[in-house]
Amino acid sequence: MEDPHQVTVMYDWFQYSMTKAPPHVIDQKEKRKWNIQYVEPYGRCTIALRDIAEGEVIFVDHPIVTGPKQTTDLICLSCYRQLDSWDQYQCSKCGWPLCSKECEGRGHHPMECKIFRRLRVQASPE
Ligand SMILES: [Zn+2]
Ligand SMILES: [Zn+2]
Repeated sequence: MEDPHQVTVMYDWFQYSMTKAPPHVIDQKEKRKWNIQYVEPYGRCTIALRDIAEGEVIFVDHPIVTGPKQTTDLICLSCYRQLDSWDQYQCSKCGWPLCSKECEGRGHHPMECKIFRRLRVQASPE
């Protein structure tokens, strides 16, 4: 199936990132590839401590918060794909808009779905 928005890649990355330790833990296990230094006139900079190959992972971090912007087009709350209509598909548990049944169990939606239900936050097209 064609995946023009690379949703599969995004979920693969999400799953990968969830298995990785935060940067300060990686730094303890691996030889540090970079350091933070103050360089005039730029300020704080990330400085490579050795040659770094193109595409090489230098650190992995987890976002504090993820989600759509406060003002956005109608999108799936799981994969952020643009939706054609409010009722294209609604989560069978919380009622919030998603693109498909598959997105009920993907990404971070299962976590926010529990919160929506616990707090009784209702979806509204307004
Ligand atoms: Zn989706
Ligand atoms: Zn839900």
